[in-house]
Amino acid sequence: MSPEKGEADLARIQERMDRLGIDPRLKDYVTRSIRFHTHPAPGVLIAVFMVDYALEILGATPGERLYAVCETRKCAPDPVQVILGCTTGNKGLQVLPIGRFALTLNRPSDGPTSDGVRVYVDPAKVKAFPAIRAWYTNAPGFDKKKQEGALTDEIFRAGREILSFKRVRVKVPGKEKWEAALCSCCGEMVPGDLLEDGACSGCGSLAYYEEI
Ligand code: ZN
Repeated sequence: MSPEKGEADLARIQERMDRLGIDPRLKDYVTRSIRFHTHPAPGVLIAVFMVDYALEILGATPGERLYAVCETRKCAPDPVQVILGCTTGNKGLQVLPIGRFALTLNRPSDGPTSDGVRVYVDPAKVKAFPAIRAWYTNAPGFDKKKQEGALTDEIFRAGREILSFKRVRVKVPGKEKWEAALCSCCGEMVPGDLLEDGACSGCGSLAYYEEI
């Protein structure tokens, strides 16, 4: 997508948010998330409300060190990264390919677990919003292009009304020491505990290319 088209799409969304009286805090989250994602995907907008809701329940602010798990690879990881600074690279964000439109936030903990909050799109609540429902269920006949305006308005009108939450306890990963090891196949270095029968997983179960 061209930068010009991206900014034009964003301007349209901002105009909608102004018309619907969206809170400046959310407007800022939405703007930054769309720029990062490069287009105003419905999942990005919904995930902004999810992050905002989770922060409120947790009594946390975006400046705090937090940990997040996204249960989908689609859209939701981006507002988490932009708003919270929890990234895949700084280990603040884990993305699990479960496919549920849900995310969990928790604070750091010195113990083996941390209590947090899981916010999810609730199928029972989505029923009251036909455009969101069509998007959420990937309904046959749902035309993303044609219904984009109606869908966006509905997402902003619904806000948190399509969301539910649970208080949850998550395992905190240990900070084990690690030693580097050479892969017997490619000869490159990896943490030793990631070897599979002496070879790295890139040469084994996670191989994704062949040399040309
Ligand atoms: Zn290897």
